[in-house]
Amino acid sequence: MDVKTVFPNLNVMWVRWSDYTLVTSKFSGPRVSYLVPAPGAAELRFNCAEQSEQLVADALELGRQLLIGTPEGERLCATFAARHGLLGLGAEKDPPFTSDPAVPPCYHPLNSREYGEDIGLFQVFFMELYQHFLTTKGEVTMEANPAVLDISGLLSYRLTSGRTPQLVWQVKSMESVIRLSYAAMVTGDKPGLRVCKNCGKVYYNSHAKSEFCSARCRNYYNVKVFRKNKIISEG
Ligand SMILES: [Zn+2]
Repeated sequence: MDVKTVFPNLNVMWVRWSDYTLVTSKFSGPRVSYLVPAPGAAELRFNCAEQSEQLVADALELGRQLLIGTPEGERLCATFAARHGLLGLGAEKDPPFTSDPAVPPCYHPLNSREYGEDIGLFQVFFMELYQHFLTTKGEVTMEANPAVLDISGLLSYRLTSGRTPQLVWQVKSMESVIRLSYAAMVTGDKPGLRVCKNCGKVYYNSHAKSEFCSARCRNYYNVKVFRKNKIISEG
């Protein structure tokens, strides 16, 4: 299945801000860090479903980095957000958005300058997606029942009336775009999501023979193999 085949006019207008930063909530309850647009950041509107394959690959790669415990995790989350926006966590359900200024960033209107997401929940989303991807490669990193890694989501659609009815997916969040596009990619017969043979990075390439994320990795790997073979033949 290809999301763009089922929903050919998929257009999900989303907002990304040019720069993101972390703020710690001063509200009641436990202290929570939120990923929010940085002061002075510029608003950019775009169709986040247009390059859904790249979006999914970036999401999986972020999940991989977070899962291996990179010390740069929070910076990588801010970089992802600057490239694609925040996820819209919980937006598919009844979002409790309000313009009351005295609430944590996650309750502000979606994608506004004041809107932010709990960095902990934000990171869990990517790590779970990557853990699911690992199971498709036959790798399970945890002892837990793999069923807990099953992915589900809400799909709200509309079929327009008339001579040429259109099937429209009423998407409310980028989280849903990533989940459903990923689902379509891993269940489809065109394996476009790949793991670099050299560095382990997850990347997207529709070419069936692609093995490396970059020419640099291909060269590096070939040199490594060449040296290894040389040592064996000389040994
Ligand atoms: Zn690589």
